[in-house]
Amino acid sequence: MDRRSKHKVILIAWFIVFLLMGSGVWGFQAGHLMVIVFFMASLVFYLLAAFLMRCPKCRMPVLLRPRKFLGMELFTWSILTPERCRHCGESLG
Ligand SMILES: [Zn+2]
Repeated sequence: MDRRSKHKVILIAWFIVFLLMGSGVWGFQAGHLMVIVFFMASLVFYLLAAFLMRCPKCRMPVLLRPRKFLGMELFTWSILTPERCRHCGESLG
């Protein structure tokens, strides 16, 4: 399994946990709070992964995706790793 399909599996697993936990704890008094905490923890985890996963060749974060918008260079973050580095084209498989 390559890196990209591993990430898909992680995302799907996360989504299932999110749904199960959401429907399981929503009825509790602090259920929505737990969902928010879970969401924040996931966000922190994603941010860590986004900064730690770097291209082996040019050291750019692989989730950072440069885009052209109205002539400006904008950077957006993607959830899935691309197949090759957006910066130097190095394969990340
Ligand atoms: Zn690169």
